Amino acid sequence: MTDLARTCGSCTACCKTHEVVELHKRAGKWCQFRVKEHGCRIYEKRPRGCVEFKCQWLKGHGEESDRPDRTGIVIDFLPLKSIGKMMVLYEGTIGAFGSEYGKALAAHYVSLGYPVLQKYQSSKEVLLIPRTLQTPLEKLKELAGVKRRVLIVEAR
Ligand code: SF4
Ligand code: SF4
Repeated sequence: MTDLARTCGSCTACCKTHEVVELHKRAGKWCQFRVKEHGCRIYEKRPRGCVEFKCQWLKGHGEESDRPDRTGIVIDFLPLKSIGKMMVLYEGTIGAFGSEYGKALAAHYVSLGYPVLQKYQSSKEVLLIPRTLQTPLEKLKELAGVKRRVLIVEAR
């Protein structure tokens, strides 16, 4: 379903999951300027990275009820030269990747042929690789800049 009129509303999930270089904010930690269920205390002056970021839900992915603060997962992607893209899933709520939604989401993207990187709050990273992907693993790791990972090949 595509809903171009979506807004973040009271969601602030990416204010935790994402690194904000300009603020020296680490991924997985709440931003000091985030106001719970409200938004950004420096909204008008927030860094460019915050202004430009739009998660996939905001762009229309999934159902209205799949907002990241509810599912616990922020969906992003990384363009990969010569491959297309890698889906990047951020764990906003601990345990979200193990939920029915989390498992179905990852399986969905893998079934479409995309490598999927799951980034845990603990900094663990899991890379799911579709069997159909021909790119050598080392090349994929290099392109994605993945630091630590566990390889899981798509189960059919
Ligand atoms: S995770 Fe998506 S919907 Fe939530 S605040 Fe960030 S961009 Fe908006
Ligand atoms: S500056 Fe504002 S928009 Fe950016 S991460 Fe912090 S609270 Fe969120």
